[in-house]
Amino acid sequence: MIGGEWVEGDGAAAATINPADDTAVAVYHPADSRHVDAAITAAVAARREWDEMGIIARGLILRRSAEILADRAETVAVLMTREQGKTLPESRAEVGATVETLHYHAAQARSADGVTYPSSHPDELIRTVRRPLGVVAAITPWNFPLQIPAWKLAPALLWGNTVVWKPASDTVAVAAAFAAILVDAGIPAGVLNMILGPGSIGAELVAHESVSGVTFTGSVPVGRSIQAATVPRGAKVQMELGGHNAAIVMPDSDPAQAAAVLVGAAMGSTGQKCTATRRIIAVGEAYDDLVAELTALVGALSVGDGSDPATQIGPLVSARAAKEVAAAVEQALEEGAELLARAPLPDSGGAYVAPTLLAGTPALTVCREEVFGPVVTVLRAENLDEAIDIANSTPFGLTAAVFTDDEHVVRRCIRELEAGLVKVNAPNTGSELHAPFGGLKDSSFPAPREQNAASSADFFTWSKTAYVRPGAPRSRR
Ligand code: NDP
Repeated sequence: MIGGEWVEGDGAAAATINPADDTAVAVYHPADSRHVDAAITAAVAARREWDEMGIIARGLILRRSAEILADRAETVAVLMTREQGKTLPESRAEVGATVETLHYHAAQARSADGVTYPSSHPDELIRTVRRPLGVVAAITPWNFPLQIPAWKLAPALLWGNTVVWKPASDTVAVAAAFAAILVDAGIPAGVLNMILGPGSIGAELVAHESVSGVTFTGSVPVGRSIQAATVPRGAKVQMELGGHNAAIVMPDSDPAQAAAVLVGAAMGSTGQKCTATRRIIAVGEAYDDLVAELTALVGALSVGDGSDPATQIGPLVSARAAKEVAAAVEQALEEGAELLARAPLPDSGGAYVAPTLLAGTPALTVCREEVFGPVVTVLRAENLDEAIDIANSTPFGLTAAVFTDDEHVVRRCIRELEAGLVKVNAPNTGSELHAPFGGLKDSSFPAPREQNAASSADFFTWSKTAYVRPGAPRSRR
């Protein structure tokens, strides 16, 4: 979608595939370099009018987009399950959360947008003023094909930026449905442009000199390449990358309660959440009871087509993803991991990998490198010191959790766990859209690092400080 028009690319047809049954969902002709240039040109041309419309009017358009998405919720949820594979309840929850996200940012239009300061000159007013960055590029992954784009597009647009969006190639139909909703809500031509194409199109987009800000969620290697393409020219860049999230279970916690929460956090969305629990660290006597509970729960998970109401865990997003996750499990077993539980798989085709519970040590590759699927490893620690060391032993720092009733343990974990989100007696996954979300270490790149909450305005605007003194009236003769 370029300058308000749906344009067909010239490349060979590409398709997205339903990972539950290998059927095609959407067929499209990918964009090429000319479309990247045209989209950026359209976004540059639309800047002034969008800026001059004012934030209240822009907020009303976002509010309308929330209403339209709510009207189309079931259609979009069904499409998401077909294209991405997540279960229908998961898709419905994502659509609902996206409606809330759009409402939240729409309402920000009426918040205070600056600060005033006293001046050494009594008549002078000093105040901060927010100005849009200009053209923002948004590059989004397939695991939350609606929610993550909304986190980025809604504040970018609200604060007066025009946008070129490159969604993930595996979920283009959901992306097109969302773009259509924004257009139907009244986003003017050229303000939001969307190009469908491979990662190389995204690389061209972020390297373009007219792009002043880049917001990205995805893998660490792509994030690093975007950093290299943007930072030297002074473009603002915000990125949310992978995670290797640990949960510490203390002996004073209830093993059944901890296991139920952690299986949901590790296996929900088929483990394809950057915040998913990847390592469960059982301290001392917690180990045996916890492992017994986890083993029973993981072995009983029902895996299948996400549109079947009996399904708890859907397929991976694609055959390629399933192959990578299955290979990582095999490698872990070759390296000496113990297989504690594996859920049964459906007989049909599809991109399925059995939810898998392993036991092992921090040296396993699966405990150091992110495996983006339904695989979790239980580790032993003698005491809290060792558990915190293990939790902090990867380059990532997205989320961490601790299960305990001991306030001293809670305080230490909040202080010492190297993660942007620390959860206590709660799943690693899940966050409120009005609270800052972002990782530490390799999981994020600052400027600022958080998404959501007030910090999104800090990323999507430049702040200026204005010093205003009254003018001296020209003396009348
Ligand atoms: P990728 O980094 O491969 O892809 C993410 C997006 O970047 C896609 O739109 C992709 O396009 C695009 N892209 C690919 N190559 C380039 C490039 N060279 N320049 C610019 N854009 C490019 O990640 P995955 O699709 O594998 O997504 C899963 C990863 O994302 C996981 O590692 C996960 O941890 C992370 N993630 C992090 C989250 C967080 O909030 N911290 C949330 C969700 C996921 P295309 O699809 O066409 O390849």
